[in-house]
Amino acid sequence: MTDLAGLVAAVREDIAPQIGTGRVADYIPALARVDPRHFGIAIATCDGGTAAAGDADLPFSIQSVSKVFTLTLALGRVGDALWRRVGREPSGSPFNSIVQLEREQGIPRNPLINAGALVVTDAILAGRRPEIAIAEILMYLRELADDPRVAVDREVAQSEAETGFRNASLANFIRSFGNIANPVASVLETYFNQCALAMTCRQLAHAGLFLANGGIDPVGGQRVVGPDEARRINAIMMTCGHYDASGDFAFRVGLPGKSGVGGGILAVAPRRASIAVWSPGLNASGNSLVGALALESLSRRTGWSVF
Ligand code: GLU
Repeated sequence: MTDLAGLVAAVREDIAPQIGTGRVADYIPALARVDPRHFGIAIATCDGGTAAAGDADLPFSIQSVSKVFTLTLALGRVGDALWRRVGREPSGSPFNSIVQLEREQGIPRNPLINAGALVVTDAILAGRRPEIAIAEILMYLRELADDPRVAVDREVAQSEAETGFRNASLANFIRSFGNIANPVASVLETYFNQCALAMTCRQLAHAGLFLANGGIDPVGGQRVVGPDEARRINAIMMTCGHYDASGDFAFRVGLPGKSGVGGGILAVAPRRASIAVWSPGLNASGNSLVGALALESLSRRTGWSVF
């Protein structure tokens, strides 16, 4: 039995000298003004343990961490048919890259880059109005986190929409290949709102716990996805969860993980725990600098790396 409280305290001590380093995302004001000195960590284990340290109860913008949950939701609805529309290979490209799409006929490399996430969002929309799909995604996260306080930050969603030219290009380009079925405006509105979900480390760790536990949330006992699906989502997180730095994350941490430009990372230690970290300063690849260091320390201290 791991001493979880001792573990999070030790991890926090390990990274303390680095707190505040990295560059906060500055493409929208609501993210640019976040204090880079925040650091939070929360662990939820399959046997019901929890521990947290630092700013683990402060909500932050989960951004692309949401792509894991929309992927789960879409797989639950359309099953393997989703893989006809999106691949499962690492892209080796930045999160918002468009270059591969033309060569690969509008089939994005994987569901965790922006192009793939837009296709996944289109699968969730499936003819619904964006406000319905957004409400469904929000409800889904509230259920997974077992916390009704999970919310969409409207200011972030609005700013994403005002500056989302690259995402609009991606969606239009994919639609030109016939791989987006709903109006591009609806897909973008839904996507910008899912990126704007605000969650705490504690909520996020709970929300990801089913992935560590073969698809079942061990706290409430409900099945979220089948065991094969959980295994596959973990595989995609491992190979694609950190964009063109996914190999480096696997090398250093050895856990399936998904980052977001808000500075959050969700990591899964299969059969053991779900871990959420948050530190807003990013490295050159757009992933949380101190968050990755914290997970590296945690993996070293616990031996939880899957390798
Ligand atoms: N809202 C960002 C975008 O789609 C999310 C990017 C990220 O978190 O990596 O551009």
